Amino acid sequence: MRVKQQMAMVFNLDKCLGCNTCTIACKNVWTNREGAEYMFWNNVETKPGIGYPKQWEDQTKYRGGWIQNPGSDKPKLNQASRFWQMINLFYNPVMPQMEDYYGKGPFTFTYEDLHSHEPTKYSQPVARPKSQITGEEDISIDYAVNWEDNGGGTHEDGTGRHDVNFADMTPAARKAYLSFRDSFMMYLPRICNHCINPACVGSCPSGAAYKREEDGIVLIDQERCRGWRFCVSGCPYKKTYYNWRTGKSEKCILCYPRIETGQAPACFQACPGRIRYLGPILYDLDRVAQVANADESELVARHREIILDPNDPEVIAAARAAGVTEAWLDACRRSPVYKMVKEWEIALPLHPEFRTLPSLFYIPPESPVATASSGREGYDMAGGATVLPKLDEFRIPIEYLASMLAAGNTAEVEKALRRQLAVRAFRRNERVEGKVDAAVLKEVGLTEKQARHMHRLLALAHYHERFVIATTHTEATSSRPFIERGFVGFNELDAGKSPRRRTSFHGQGVGVES
Ligand code: SF4
Ligand code: SF4
Ligand code: SF4
Repeated sequence: MRVKQQMAMVFNLDKCLGCNTCTIACKNVWTNREGAEYMFWNNVETKPGIGYPKQWEDQTKYRGGWIQNPGSDKPKLNQASRFWQMINLFYNPVMPQMEDYYGKGPFTFTYEDLHSHEPTKYSQPVARPKSQITGEEDISIDYAVNWEDNGGGTHEDGTGRHDVNFADMTPAARKAYLSFRDSFMMYLPRICNHCINPACVGSCPSGAAYKREEDGIVLIDQERCRGWRFCVSGCPYKKTYYNWRTGKSEKCILCYPRIETGQAPACFQACPGRIRYLGPILYDLDRVAQVANADESELVARHREIILDPNDPEVIAAARAAGVTEAWLDACRRSPVYKMVKEWEIALPLHPEFRTLPSLFYIPPESPVATASSGREGYDMAGGATVLPKLDEFRIPIEYLASMLAAGNTAEVEKALRRQLAVRAFRRNERVEGKVDAAVLKEVGLTEKQARHMHRLLALAHYHERFVIATTHTEATSSRPFIERGFVGFNELDAGKSPRRRTSFHGQGVGVES
């Protein structure tokens, strides 16, 4: 067992408002500068939809992530071989283009026209679209981040039919869901997943993309980046971006300067829906390659397996031997992420079939709890717990959620939803009916104590319960071999070269000039 430390995250999709406060928080702090206009390290998509960049989930188009490698003990990059990279060095055919992110390019509006309007004119003042790159005015706008906001344009004749999460449904079912899109819609906030097996790191020919030893945050060293952009095409979530001004790639840095000082990342702290949770976990590096190569239906369960129990004496001993501090171990025991992912099994990784083993997990949304077809308004609990909607009455199709969060394994999504519903019913019975009904919990394998803790964490938790931040001092890790690279990729340690210096404060992106 080789114990590794990882800052991990959970987003509770049931509570996301789609307000994009997170997006703006990140934009203002990190990407409000030349060369980064089109970048949204945090973005919020409306599902169904094809997102940003267009169809990022479709790996037949982008060939990102890893694919199963039968007969081997580890997966292989979807972008074939190093030879493939070499011959496509100057033209990568699976690279997203600007039109996939932003149509004609990032734009703003001529807001100054609103103030300088001449009162003698008859028309209302109008702010017109203006290119942020060339300054050209009146450019046509045909795509941008959050283009499908609240389901706009995702009807059968629009972008919705290109959403790959409908791929396993019949065209008739897809058409029905899209025709009645007013009854089915959800938000999907996305940042870099700081994956345990990052394809961006495995794809980088320069060795610039790396995973920090002390907390698993994935960064791109701006000095080493040569702008080949294989991290952009290699990341199946399209969460690395090329900066046209600096000629380097950039990505979400999980606000590591904030984490190092015990503060939540900007997008986490700003979120008014309080959907975001942050906490450390421990995982077993020895089993990562094997788990990433598992059969699709097992990926979620196997991913959970490599997350280690911080209360297990054997794990504690191995962690101490690996240099994990007592403060980190203590934080792992209080980690909300550990509880939700490993103990309660209500949070699932986004597209586990990409095999990067994301460190960001999502609680699938129940809402709206009242079904459209039953004619019931709101909660109808008169008959007891059983009147909660059945899973097949949910407006959001389970198959759709399973395609996004469980590689098609509907049982994983059903378990997560049933447990949430059971806790709702348990707490509702207790507070409204005045009776404790533990049977509803037993049905889904939860104890009363777990249910109370779940309710507390999902509904009421304060800042320090949602964000358990284990700060790690540089000196505590500097004596160890420092970089955990993807197990595929140019590995300097394997190649016998001396490891390059740690770059924990070097980071990337921020204020870098070429
Ligand atoms: Fe982030 Fe994972 Fe994509 Fe790398 S592969 S940029 S760690 S989401
Ligand atoms: Fe941006 Fe920080 Fe959020 Fe990453 S964690 S998306 S860098 S605000
Ligand atoms: Fe708003 Fe939070 Fe959802 Fe972002 S994650 S859209 S800040 S509720």
